[in-house]
Formats: sequence, structure tokens, C-alpha cells
Amino acid sequence: MTTPDTKTSRNDILFARAQQSTPGGVNSPVRAFRSVGGTPRFITRAEGPYFWDADGKRYIDYIGSWGPAIVGHAHPQVVKAVQEAAARGLSFGAPTEGEIEIAEEICRLVPSIEQVRLVSSGTEATMSALRLARGATGRDKIVKFEGCYHGHADSLLVKAGSGLLTFGNPTSAGVPEDFVKHTLVLDYNNVAQLEDAFESMGDTIACVIVEAVAGNMNLIRATPEFLQRMRELCTEYGAILIFDEVMSGFRVGLGGAQALYGITPDLTALGKVIGGGMPVAAFGGRADLMHKMAPIGPVYQAGTLSGNPVAVAAGMTTLKLVQQPGFYEQLSGQADKLVKGLTAAAREAGVAFCADSVGGMFGMYFSASIPGSYSEMMAGDKERFNRFFHGMLDEGVYFAPAMFEAGFVSSTHDDAIVDATIEAARKVFARIG
Ligand code: PMP
Repeated sequence: MTTPDTKTSRNDILFARAQQSTPGGVNSPVRAFRSVGGTPRFITRAEGPYFWDADGKRYIDYIGSWGPAIVGHAHPQVVKAVQEAAARGLSFGAPTEGEIEIAEEICRLVPSIEQVRLVSSGTEATMSALRLARGATGRDKIVKFEGCYHGHADSLLVKAGSGLLTFGNPTSAGVPEDFVKHTLVLDYNNVAQLEDAFESMGDTIACVIVEAVAGNMNLIRATPEFLQRMRELCTEYGAILIFDEVMSGFRVGLGGAQALYGITPDLTALGKVIGGGMPVAAFGGRADLMHKMAPIGPVYQAGTLSGNPVAVAAGMTTLKLVQQPGFYEQLSGQADKLVKGLTAAAREAGVAFCADSVGGMFGMYFSASIPGSYSEMMAGDKERFNRFFHGMLDEGVYFAPAMFEAGFVSSTHDDAIVDATIEAARKVFARIG
């Protein structure tokens, strides 16, 4: 595989052009390679575990559209379902049978979800779940954890203070202090801090929202005690427990993180895999709570393209494919093989590195041990990660372009793909060691 001549690279030409019409040249910030430097690759097509950039260079893709492509890119059955649905009409703004089918499937596969509402993005799903939690409890305060991302709704765009219990300051310009003054940000995996928060203000907390397997501060596992205590405290104080499984849902296993940990949240946000690469997300949970949604309840939420028939066809087909016997065993087996291979390759080169995986998600850390919190993750060697990232890119392997992101395998990442990745990593670790 050859590195494109950057002087004549079509990626460079497209990036320069994109920046004229679009802020930063991209429609979602991480795509701009700001964290790792260099030119983002403009993708022309994808198939199975691969995609190709505008220079015709092929990459093994470990992003999978940031999670949705769990059955590989352009899976023939998903593409067929989309084509057939598109031929019947793109959007009706009226209900369809397909929406019932996917809702029934989600309720069947995620037992805590008794009723579900479809939306078009993870941001909408978490934002609506929060509104429902506040509407149902009549309380304002929400608890989130440092390093967990729940989309870009105003009240969730809050950075944490240090390790202390702090009310949030907005992380983004344009979010009034007033909008986030009810958002309490706590440390991930810190049980004592959570207990303190409930003790001092538990009867004013509407909900706790958490990524039960965190994937937006690289991959970080919640400890079982953390989630268990969270469940108990929410029940004791009448707060709603929201699992944000936009990323972990149908990714860490069939029933999501809640099945893995055996914990039942009141509400769940889903996205990514349930759309199979098309814009479908959802929130759902206890029927008594969901009955508070418009049109039967007082909590308003709506969407012109919600339950879009073409998107639902992609999602439903993907949900069928992941239920094939042995799907998750194979998926997690490949992620595990990748993680072990990378770790061994780093060790051979004397690079401080470790890695972890849960189901089809993995994390790579340029540190001596696997982090358990945002601050531990941030202590990793970012400069070395960046060199690794670019080295792998040159070798034709595309990992997430930031140290803070998790990676994803698909069912098409077979042994040959994983072996080729490890072989490439061996070369790159030797260069950056
Ligand atoms: N929650 C989690 C856990 C996510 O990972 C994401 C997206 N990465 C979101 C919410 C927001 O989803 P979307 O980008 O579809 O709005």
C-alpha cells in the first residue's frame, strides 16, 4: 500500500474546498482530524471491513461510522432492504407497519423497554429522555458523569470540574449558564461521590444519565458496584435511571450494557446499530413513564422524519442480522483477538500500551494500565497515540482520529483482517517505540 503524494492528494484538494463552504470542512467535528493533525480522508465507498478514500487508497475501518456498521459496510441484505423501501417512497409523515415491527423487536430484545419512541439521532433520544424524566418527576436536577457524552443538547454539554462535585459550566459557547445550572457532573466510577450527591440533594434529582459502558472517553467500563449503587439510589430517592446505550446498545451484546451488568434502567436511549447506518435512534422504557409522552401525555416531542421508512428498513434488517446464532460470540472474539494482538505487538516494541474490549467495542490506551475514569484516560500519551494513528493510517488501517474515542469491529473483521492489522501495528510500534 502506498501513501498518497500529499501535494496531489485529492483528499487535500477536497479538504481545502470543503472548508470554503462548511465550517472546518466537516459536518461533525471529530472528522476534521484536529486532534491528530493532517488531512481527513474523504471517503468514496465502503464494503465489509474496508473503505476507500478519494485517492483510491483502501483502509481497514475500525470506526464503522462510529458504531452503526456492525454487520460491515454495505451489507447486501441491508442495502437491498433500503433499496426496496426507497422504491416504495422516502417519507410519508404518517405511521407505517415497519415502525411497529422495529418497536416490537426493540421491546423484545431489551426487556426494560416496554414502550419505545423512534427519533433520528442519539442527541434527540437523550434530550427527549431527559425531558421525560423531568416531566415525570417534576424535578429539575440531572446527574451526569465526567467524560460521558450524551449528544449535544444544551443541558448535557457540560464539562466537569476537577474531581470535585461541581455544578456544570457549559463546555460550548452559546449554552447559557442558566441552562446547565441544574446539571450536576460527577466522577465516573466514584460510588462515594454519588452517594454524597444523593444524600445532600436526592429528592431534587430528576434523573441520572450514564453510559454504562463508556465509549466517549475511549472505552471505560463501569464497575458493577457503581451501576448497582446508582440503581439503588435512584429507586430510593425516586429519580429516573437513564442508560444511554446509543453506543453500547446491540454493540456490547444483544441486550446492551444493561443485559451485561444485569441492571434494569427506567429509560434507555438507543441509536447507531438500530439504524444500521441510517438515521434511527430511540428512547424507551417503563410503560408508565412512556405514557407521559405526547400525544397521550404532557411531555412534548416530535419529528418530521422520525420512524423514516427507509431508515427503519436498514435498522430492522440489521437487528435481524445481529440475532444470527453466534453473532456476538464471533464479534467479541475478534475484538478480543485484536486487543491481545495489539498489546503483544506493543510489548515486543517496548511501548507502554494496553487495550480492552467489551463485545464489539474496544479501547487502546497509551498508558501502563487500563483507565477507570476520565482523568486517568486523559493521562495517556497523546503524542504517541497520534504517531501511532498516522503510522497505521499509512499502513492502511483507519482507527478513530482521537485518543478519546473507542474503536469498533464488525462481523466482517475476520481473522485475515485482524491479523493484517496486528502485523501493521507491529511495524508501527517498532517505529514509534
Ligand atoms: N450518546 C452516546 C453514548 C453517543 O455515543 C452519541 C454519539 N456518539 C450520542 C449520544 C449522540 O448521538 P448522535 O450523534 O446520533 O446525536
